[in-house]
Amino acid sequence: MDPEADNDGLTAGQLFSHGTGLTYNDFIILPGYIDFTADEVDLSSALTRRISLRAPLVSSPMDTVTESDMAIAMALCGGIGVIHNNCSVEDQYHEVLKVKKYKHGFIRDPVVLSPVHTIGDVVNVKETHGFCGIPITDTGKLGGKLMGMVTSRDIDFLADSAENLSIKLGDIMTRVENLITADSGINLKDANVILAQSKKGKLPIINDNGELIALLARTDLKKNRNYPNASKDENNQLLVGAAIGTRQSDRHRLQRLVDAGVDVVVLDSSQGNSTYQIEMIKYIKTTFPGLEVIAGNVVTTKQAKNLIEAGADGLRVGMGSGSICITQEVMAVGRPQAAAVYNVAKFAREHGVPVIADGGIQNIGQITKALSLGASTVMMGSLLAGHSETPGEYFFSDGVRLKKYRGMGSIEAMDKKNGEGSASDRYFHNEMDKLKVAQGVSGAIADKGSVLRFLPYLLCGLKHGCQDIGVKSLTILRDSIYSGQVRFEKRSQSAQQEGNVHGLVTYEHRLF
Ligand code: NAD
Ligand code: IMP
Repeated sequence: MDPEADNDGLTAGQLFSHGTGLTYNDFIILPGYIDFTADEVDLSSALTRRISLRAPLVSSPMDTVTESDMAIAMALCGGIGVIHNNCSVEDQYHEVLKVKKYKHGFIRDPVVLSPVHTIGDVVNVKETHGFCGIPITDTGKLGGKLMGMVTSRDIDFLADSAENLSIKLGDIMTRVENLITADSGINLKDANVILAQSKKGKLPIINDNGELIALLARTDLKKNRNYPNASKDENNQLLVGAAIGTRQSDRHRLQRLVDAGVDVVVLDSSQGNSTYQIEMIKYIKTTFPGLEVIAGNVVTTKQAKNLIEAGADGLRVGMGSGSICITQEVMAVGRPQAAAVYNVAKFAREHGVPVIADGGIQNIGQITKALSLGASTVMMGSLLAGHSETPGEYFFSDGVRLKKYRGMGSIEAMDKKNGEGSASDRYFHNEMDKLKVAQGVSGAIADKGSVLRFLPYLLCGLKHGCQDIGVKSLTILRDSIYSGQVRFEKRSQSAQQEGNVHGLVTYEHRLF
């Protein structure tokens, strides 16, 4: 049907005509025609001009959201994580390196002892970690020459007697010549086969010099799921991003991130349309022409234009929409997120620059909505916070297991003094900066378990959303926005209430 003759709902352009400040809850997408299964929906989408992801999900560079564990999980599931910069340069360098060096399923930091350690030390490891298949290297560390292994069978009867606790492991270990090992180049599948056939509990992985570089555990065999959609570079290493600021000192940080192999840098600012950011983009593009740069944040086409002209390969859109954000109240500046995403994405598309919808995503439906307004990917903070892969320790409050989640512009994040380039350093440069003006709050979020269970749920829900809209891929979705094929309708307050659970005294809200 000719979209112009379609009387149902509005095109995206009509929805946002006359500068209406709508956000995700203010509209709904009308269903289309289904002639394919949800499984067939292709979620591939561009992060930047040159980087494409199989899943349009990005974790935010916040110090309670993304360090290496989250970035690894995001990349395994087809998205990407952006490592925050509220830490020293070397800490951020190491977090990026951990992602780039990650080998799925291999234990990268096994407990290692040396031949001069004792049975007592093994007993301690068993009590602390609950296992005792321990590689023995000459240095007692990963990277040392592998000398042997100590397993529970080696110490079972000996450990019962206190006088044996001082026996050196060199005297009782299974020596390296009697061990089954695998070479460092081995892939997970082949290593798992060796482990299964060897009937041993652990498989040490060694390099050409006989040095221990990783370990594979039989107990992890079942957990070693394959991640066929993982985001990888041409060397088969996981993709990772990292945030930097726009100060002079960030140039050194940038160099170290490049040394670590970072794939994309994100210029992290609430208001990216500044001379500082434009200079930084130009500096990066001339110094590291192969490195992708995501600039922002922006919410208007004028802001976007300056950053695209400076050379940005991607834009991060959102000002004041984050769940921990008080920017719109304090600065009186920002834009409702749906309007920001639609307007910037439409403009950026004309220049071949993909857009990340950043902030304010509370559920799967809002991911689908952000993408239906032209965003290529979504960036999440609160939706990922509280998962076990986020930085920080769990704590209990009123019997509920919680984890901290805070804005990067909160007083707490600014107070974290972690050396050059950290949030505190970012703010306190002149007299005016001595008075902190918070743009965010700090809070807590309930324990959500592993994000490796949550991300497949998001992707599955997104595929079903696309199926209902009647689009078989995110590329088709974006094309359909501008051709007027995808239709929208505004929702009144009561329509929003109707669209949510209502009229029940109690109900259970299980997501998956
Ligand atoms: P920022 O580093 O962009 O700005 C901090 C201050 O430093 C600003 O006054 C800025 O003008 C100044 N500045 C930056 N580069 C400079 C340079 N080279 N020379 C002199 N001054 C310079 O950080 P921000 O905008 O305050 O954001 C802090 C953090 O909070 C970020 O992580 C950001 O993502 C987050 N935040 C996000 C939002 C949002 O709505 N997306 C809102 C507030 C804060
Ligand atoms: P959320 O997904 O709604 O929790 O929003 C996360 C986003 O909020 C981040 O990706 C940032 O763009 C933004 N943000 C991070 N810290 C702050 C802050 O202190 N104030 C305002 N916005 C913030």
